[in-house]
Amino acid sequence: MDVYGLVGNPVGHSLSPPMHEAAYEALGMDAQYVTFEPETAAAAIAAAKTLGIQGLNVTIPFKRAVLEAVEPAPLADRIGAVNTVDLATDPPTGYNTDAIGLLRAFERHDAELSGTAVVVGAGGAGRAAAFALADEGLAVRIANRTVSRAEELAAAVGDDVATAGLDALPELLADADILVQATSVGMDEDGSPVPARALHADLTVLDAVYSPVETRLLRDARAAGAETIDGGWMLLYQGVAAFERWTDRDAPVEVMNRALRARLDGAV
Ligand code: NAP
Repeated sequence: MDVYGLVGNPVGHSLSPPMHEAAYEALGMDAQYVTFEPETAAAAIAAAKTLGIQGLNVTIPFKRAVLEAVEPAPLADRIGAVNTVDLATDPPTGYNTDAIGLLRAFERHDAELSGTAVVVGAGGAGRAAAFALADEGLAVRIANRTVSRAEELAAAVGDDVATAGLDALPELLADADILVQATSVGMDEDGSPVPARALHADLTVLDAVYSPVETRLLRDARAAGAETIDGGWMLLYQGVAAFERWTDRDAPVEVMNRALRARLDGAV
């Protein structure tokens, strides 16, 4: 049997097990997806190698610390966070499929990735979004509550990346094409870091928050005439990218999406 899994703390409410196990079942794979709450990321990687586990997803609080225990792929190295580990290589390779998942979520919605993108947030999700969108050739602006974190991220992403505090969002968004909301605001609460008056019909808005799947930002964006993409799509495609990396097979995307959506809707 092939074994894959998730390490983090907590992992009890993760939606990854049902999503991956639906894929194994659909493809008739003899595989299982298990969750662990280890003491350290390095201990989890060492144990996984000993146990013959083929691949691990990594979530909070280990996405950064796990870099010590893997060889990061170039994009994960630049982002400074790993959420997918391939244990078939020696040393294990660390990938950031949040970045890939974000781009594939836009692609799935036929969103044109060009022009100017505003990323709100400079934590793990914000970093993944900023690097992914800059690599696609977009002009990136980063807004964060703590401006120094936005500045640090902007310097790492490249030249000409504008930064600001959240109060500057109306100006930053006025002529923007893409908005990625990558703070934890809106998670398990009815809040948004983006004032509704800053939203407009020329925007495509992706909210990384997926619990609830229908956030206040997405409601405000739709009311302003913007295209919207909920955080479930990014979650789906980071899982799809991990599955494909581990198995070298095409993921059964619609099966995984159905398994996820069944839980996302219930999780609101
Ligand atoms: P993180 O590294 O802890 O970063 C948190 C971010 O939120 C920081 O930019 C922080 O600003 C900001 N923030 C927190 N509380 C705030 C508040 N009250 N007002 C304004 N800004 C606030 O977290 P993360 O891993 O990036 O995750 C962020 C969100 O993205 C979470 O909801 C997570 O579930 C989601 N996510 C979704 C996916 C997906 O696949 N859909 C993947 C990854 C993450 P400061 O720097 O000022 O503290």
